[in-house]
Amino acid sequence: MANIEKIVIIGGGPAGLATAIYNSRANLKPLMFGGAPYGGQLMLTSDVENYPGFDSVLGPDLIEKMRVHAKKFGTNILDKNITKVDFTKKPFELYSSDEKYFSNAVIITTGAKAIWLGLESETRLRGKGVSACATCDGFFFKDKIVGVVGGGDSAMEEALFLTKFASKIYILHRRDEFRASQIMQDRVKNHPKIEILWNTEIDEVLGENKVEGIKLTGTRQLKVDGLFIAIGHKPDTDVFKGQIELDEKGYIVTSQVEALRRVSGLTSKKNYDFKYQTMTSVAGVFAGGDCVDHAYRQAGTAVGMGIAAALEAERWLDLNSKP
Ligand code: NAP
Repeated sequence: MANIEKIVIIGGGPAGLATAIYNSRANLKPLMFGGAPYGGQLMLTSDVENYPGFDSVLGPDLIEKMRVHAKKFGTNILDKNITKVDFTKKPFELYSSDEKYFSNAVIITTGAKAIWLGLESETRLRGKGVSACATCDGFFFKDKIVGVVGGGDSAMEEALFLTKFASKIYILHRRDEFRASQIMQDRVKNHPKIEILWNTEIDEVLGENKVEGIKLTGTRQLKVDGLFIAIGHKPDTDVFKGQIELDEKGYIVTSQVEALRRVSGLTSKKNYDFKYQTMTSVAGVFAGGDCVDHAYRQAGTAVGMGIAAALEAERWLDLNSKP
């Protein structure tokens, strides 16, 4: 039979790389599928100023440091995608476009992607005033005018966060009512710095090398220095559909998430092992980072979740390996 890995990590962003550092220092020689292109959302970020220990670092540089760190202790990183898994088999089976792999434990850290409007100008100006993360980039807009697109809780939260920095915030929403929770709507509606533009869609983000304004549907233009897109995220979990439990939005359910779901009256028929927080509905398959977390989505929180998954997978392997 082909080589059986002890641990395969699927996903090469901060969560996966933190997992890899821990598992490789524990001598488990993990195999990581870093993805193609590798590195996740940080590769699309310019300055990161809130990752502890780095008061300013470029997103791709931070990923590079983490990769060097993971490789130093023996992680084998393949920058490929996993296209199919079979978690009903033991060892677990994983497929890339050209090969099949076997592993006793799997840690999923495939992350999530922000949903964008899909405008060419929006893509061109990403990192140059267009952002999908106010926590990450709000600081760069001190005393500036910014727009926030969306009508859900994320858009409300981003707009309220931006009031700490920006002088004026427009919320641009495509309908005439928000879907956000009432309390968040009320805060937004009562904030003196926030103006809501209902029934408003964007045709183009204006500016050559940085955002200078937006062209709204019709002929209207609005001067803004930054544009925050807050229209949702999509976890990269399609490949795991039918293999492990996902929630209605596609996020991976771990035992910790399931415990919280049970508090709110939701539950599933799957068997979760509550001795582990990061285990999925399949014993031996763990998950961490943005593919699980739809609340915080920070490099730092992803790293923490990845480390927890690494430690739990190590413990699970210890208890479940044949002598
Ligand atoms: P969401 O609830 O799905 O809202 C997405 C918003 O973007 C909607 O208002 C939608 O408009 C708009 N939108 C979608 N596609 C668009 C497009 N192509 N052009 C323009 N607008 C578009 O997503 P979310 O706000 O990220 O929240 C996701 C989940 O996390 C929700 O369950 C939310 O409650 C939760 N969350 C909670 C908190 C909190 O409690 N503090 C904070 C953040 C998120 P329509 O309304 O017209 O569809």
